[in-house]
Amino acid sequence: MVEATHEGSLWSRTAPPGPDLPSLAGEVRADVVIVGGGFLGVSAALHLAEAGASVALLEAGEIGGGASGRNGGQVIPGIKKTRAELAAKFGADWADRIVALGDGAAGRVCDLVARHAIACDLERNGWIRAAHADAAMRDVEAMARELLARGQDVELLSRGEIAARSGTAVYVGGMHDRRAAGINPLAYVRGLAAAAQRAGARVFARSPARSLERAGGGWKVATPAGSAVAGQVVLATGAYTDALWPGLARSFVAVQSAQVASQPLGDNLRKAVLPSRAVLSDTRKLANYYRLDVEGRLVMGGRGPLGDAPEPSTLVALERAAQERFPMLGEVRWEHAWAGRIDMTLDSLPHLGVVAPGVTALLGFNGRGIALATTMGAVVANRLSGGRDPALDFPETRLAPVPFHSLRAPALRVAVAWYRLRDALGYAG
Ligand SMILES: Cc1cc2nc3c(=O)[nH]c(=O)nc-3n(C[C@H](O)[C@H](O)[C@H](O)COP(=O)(O)OP(=O)(O)OC[C@H]3O[C@@H](n4cnc5c(N)ncnc54)[C@H](O)[C@@H]3O)c2cc1C
Repeated sequence: MVEATHEGSLWSRTAPPGPDLPSLAGEVRADVVIVGGGFLGVSAALHLAEAGASVALLEAGEIGGGASGRNGGQVIPGIKKTRAELAAKFGADWADRIVALGDGAAGRVCDLVARHAIACDLERNGWIRAAHADAAMRDVEAMARELLARGQDVELLSRGEIAARSGTAVYVGGMHDRRAAGINPLAYVRGLAAAAQRAGARVFARSPARSLERAGGGWKVATPAGSAVAGQVVLATGAYTDALWPGLARSFVAVQSAQVASQPLGDNLRKAVLPSRAVLSDTRKLANYYRLDVEGRLVMGGRGPLGDAPEPSTLVALERAAQERFPMLGEVRWEHAWAGRIDMTLDSLPHLGVVAPGVTALLGFNGRGIALATTMGAVVANRLSGGRDPALDFPETRLAPVPFHSLRAPALRVAVAWYRLRDALGYAG
């Protein structure tokens, strides 16, 4: 079994270096200060700078050091709710706009990669949503029907078809969503940061925002060696949110997701394991998700407990999940293991909240942030630069504390036991 550290993540070994970034020293002034350098923050910085705003981005560590540089690289479009559920919550007009944002989210990533020539191993072979049981398959069918009715490029898969495309016979059926892609996520977020810099954004690494106070008509964000003053602040700190804005970290539950990556598979195994080269996740609430990277490594992910360091038992479970699906892997070597945090919200939706006049917080990508956080970066940029594109908007919600947040560790254990039971009964997550 492999040892896990973030330094040991596959992407930190394979991504090209990012741009050379200074840390903030002295005072800078900007129209917008963004706190957080993941997909959301750098996408917001890029889109704001392209719209002509002056931007300063402050990242506590390195660009992509949060969830964005640690994830599975599955660029999956969509929002985890049906149009009817969205209409019940936000009304029909918002539902249509949110659905359209979700439908276009993976395409937006592919367009950005092409437009800014980001070297991030993007491969657009789609996403297989794999049903682990008959009850879950009914959920997949309903999802596929809704997407097909909107003319989206998806296909239902029989038991035989999913076996042919995934290389494993463990699923009862599924759906192939051809809009999705695979990517090296750290290379992508670094490339976006470089594009934001070229567009004129000032991007600072190793610059943790320690305080946020009103200053004149705007806000002053202080770091250990400097400060940034602006009329608008965007909080883009995701599951790594600290105490900068009181209460924000209680508006979601941070859970761990962990991954292992094998050695590059030989030619014969590559023909047998995920021969379609699609990215895949199953319908369990405690889902496994996996794909091949560009060099043919199998990257297997799944739920861990809390925090950034995966436990040995989590890694053993991931390796076992891979062997169960692909017994032909035999004695394959697992060379990389790492984990990160996911910001889960109670309604499984991302939230955009104006927490004070001039301070906008966005979080809650619920494990689907490559496409959606990139898109929400464009949304917040559009809002803060005059809302010229009505299609690029999202309803404001209150970032309310999750009830009993301080009990999240025991509550998560109860939730995990409950999800295991539901998974065993065949329901979709
Ligand atoms: C293991 C794992 C696998 C995943 N797999 C997938 C996948 O395959 N597909 C997918 O779409 N999504 C996946 N996700 C989810 C996806 O990675 C996230 O939704 C996405 O990265 C969120 O982006 P973000 O910009 O909101 O947050 P982050 O990338 O977490 O960025 C927040 C940043 O804020 C910084 N920060 C925090 N506080 C401060 C402060 N006070 N001052 C300055 N900076 C601060 C942090 O250092 C961090 O870099 C996965 C997540 C994990 C952890």
